[in-house]
Amino acid sequence: MKIVVIVALSLAGAIPIGGLFLGTKSTKSEVFALSYNFKAENVIILVIDGPRYKETFGAENMQYIPNFRDSLLPNATFFDHFYNNGSTFTNAGHASITTGRYQKVENSGLEVPKYPSIFQYFMRDKKRNYNDAWVITSKGKLDILANSRYKGWENTNIARTWCGPSGEGFGYGNDTYTMTVVDSVMQNFHPRLILINLLEVDVQGHAGNWEKYLKGIQSTDKQAMALWKMIQNDTIYKDKTALFITNDHGRHCDGHKDGFVSHGGGCSCCRHISLTALGPDFRKGRIVSEEYELIDITETTAQILGMDMPTSKGRFIYPLLKEEVK
Ligand SMILES: [Zn+2]
Ligand SMILES: [Zn+2]
Repeated sequence: MKIVVIVALSLAGAIPIGGLFLGTKSTKSEVFALSYNFKAENVIILVIDGPRYKETFGAENMQYIPNFRDSLLPNATFFDHFYNNGSTFTNAGHASITTGRYQKVENSGLEVPKYPSIFQYFMRDKKRNYNDAWVITSKGKLDILANSRYKGWENTNIARTWCGPSGEGFGYGNDTYTMTVVDSVMQNFHPRLILINLLEVDVQGHAGNWEKYLKGIQSTDKQAMALWKMIQNDTIYKDKTALFITNDHGRHCDGHKDGFVSHGGGCSCCRHISLTALGPDFRKGRIVSEEYELIDITETTAQILGMDMPTSKGRFIYPLLKEEVK
């Protein structure tokens, strides 16, 4: 007879058992165990680079993001108190999502993240094939997200990347073209884990061009909608895919330094971002005001994909789930 004794559920978070997992909430006083059989088998994370909350979900009538307002939010769980609580620069912000750790990462693309990425954990499984994980970003410097400098993880289990205008990891591309790459990769390879970055909002913000900054927000609204349609129109992805739409950072508040032009500090407008989550396991038309943060996307993605990610520090985002967790 086999006797299995679980001595302690550590704060590390989860013990995956196939599609089921035992999860723990990362507060010492409150430890929940749960089992959940996810319908989602794929996770796509869309990062819209650097809009302020004030011009997206916080704007009057959400006037710049009509597709979110009218089509995506009714199908999503939306988090209106969602934050980047680490460095609010682009590479560090993205690395928080992909590693589940806040950390300093040099911002020009010369330094890979300190901690192993969720792509590496995913590709480590011998069952994976070459095309199962992709990093597709308009900013070339974000190809650092596939790798890490953590001992034993350097240059191992690397996801495929298309970063920058030529896909080679330098320069700034064009979001419209990046979305054609996304479409092509999805149709041809059906990766199970994808991270996408769109840059227009951030670039126009840094240029100090208010009108083009707002236009950038309107463009990404359309691109987010197009991505959701790509998922719905694909028999492999439809009803089997979780889509997280978030930001790496906001921008300075009006009256603080140069306002919408820059970001990178700890002001409330650099930190306040958003999370829109769509998928077969998630509630629809629900707004959650409980605070969650960037590194929680990592833990949630790991659980959906049935992985234990001990180096990640985020929490599983329980309010997403349709079924009550006991
Ligand atoms: Zn950014
Ligand atoms: Zn700021």
